[in-house]
Amino acid sequence: MDKKFKIEFDEANVQQSVAYILVSEFDLRPNVLKAEIEGDGSGIMILSLEGDEAKLKAAEERLRQEGFVIKEMVMRISRDADLCWNCGACVSICPVYSFSHDKDTWELLLDNSKCISCGSCVNACSVHALSLHL
Ligand code: SF4
Ligand code: SF4
Repeated sequence: MDKKFKIEFDEANVQQSVAYILVSEFDLRPNVLKAEIEGDGSGIMILSLEGDEAKLKAAEERLRQEGFVIKEMVMRISRDADLCWNCGACVSICPVYSFSHDKDTWELLLDNSKCISCGSCVNACSVHALSLHL
């Protein structure tokens, strides 16, 4: 099972290693997709976690006990192939490289497992071919 989470931290728990807890205590495989830290030590981290569902649940609780705010991200991007004209605007704006082009047909390809639901591609598409949904 693979799920994506947004984790918020502050100066009180910034020193805690989220990845260490997830790997050593729950045998999960984390992949950090995005991380931002402010000058005061607060920030956010978006990561995908792969592993057993019961362990994912337990890990969520464990991180909450450490003071992290953790939310599962369940939004997905969908593309209307009839509207899309493969212009590439979404390819260049996506911060986590969810889009690519088929090297033979040049058709747009989308890997939703990478998406962090930022919405940038939706706003960038001039023909409204992309949408975020649950
Ligand atoms: S921006 Fe819109 S039209 Fe352009 S490739 Fe992406 S989905 Fe297709
Ligand atoms: S919402 Fe669009 S731009 Fe943002 S991460 Fe997902 S695919 Fe990329």
